Amino acid sequence: MPPRSRTVWAPLWLSLLVCRTIAQLDAELTACRACPRLVAWREQVAHEKRAAFSDENYWGKPVPGLGPADARLLLIGLAPAAHGGNRTGRMFTGDRSGDFLIAAMHAAGLTNQPTSVSAYDGLRLLGTRVTAPVHCAPPGNKPTTVERDTCRRWLTTELTLLAPTLRSIVVLGGWGWQAALPALSESGWEIPTPKPRFGHGAHVELAPAARGHSPVHLFGAYHPSQQNTFTGRLTPAMLEQVLRDAAQAAGLP
Ligand code: SF4
Repeated sequence: MPPRSRTVWAPLWLSLLVCRTIAQLDAELTACRACPRLVAWREQVAHEKRAAFSDENYWGKPVPGLGPADARLLLIGLAPAAHGGNRTGRMFTGDRSGDFLIAAMHAAGLTNQPTSVSAYDGLRLLGTRVTAPVHCAPPGNKPTTVERDTCRRWLTTELTLLAPTLRSIVVLGGWGWQAALPALSESGWEIPTPKPRFGHGAHVELAPAARGHSPVHLFGAYHPSQQNTFTGRLTPAMLEQVLRDAAQAAGLP
């Protein structure tokens, strides 16, 4: 039986005191060891490696968000892949999901190039940031609800720091949607009752509940996992359309 995660919870105000900028947030997050099961797994994978990457140094730590600190659009995924983000140290980099997502983002004008293979490949996100509700690779791509809730402090802090410019969010997948709603509430947006339901193409405008916040457009899209892309449940055209709609709502060119 895997060890149960212990919640090492610091209140949001403390996170905000420690992390006054996105750069500080990324640095603090990278040292996090709050979830024993995920710490053990990410380090085990980094030690054992996949044969195809045996000559690489795996990252093996929490993977921070990617993109500018003044992003107008935020994409929220699920968690880094064991041999993708956990290997390269960058979100959606070095795996099939990243190939699919970054190609769609490029088609929608949100990146400078259509590929994402390593942290040194020159990829730049344009007005857009990509993050996750869980920042460590989980076994079977399945974090527990305790791990999701433990990691929410980072997402809530990231949303709060992005609030001055943030106008649009795309959540990739229903699991991420459920994780994002409480983080959005904690970081200063109103979540309507009943709660908005996830679906591909779902769109709701959230009213601000904190001073200095603006309304934010929340979109849903299927996650670009191989389960969805190999079966045709999610096509490039479907993802590109949601990204274009979200970019337009964010006022991106
Ligand atoms: S999943 Fe999040 S809270 Fe848990 S160890 Fe990783 S960064 Fe920390």
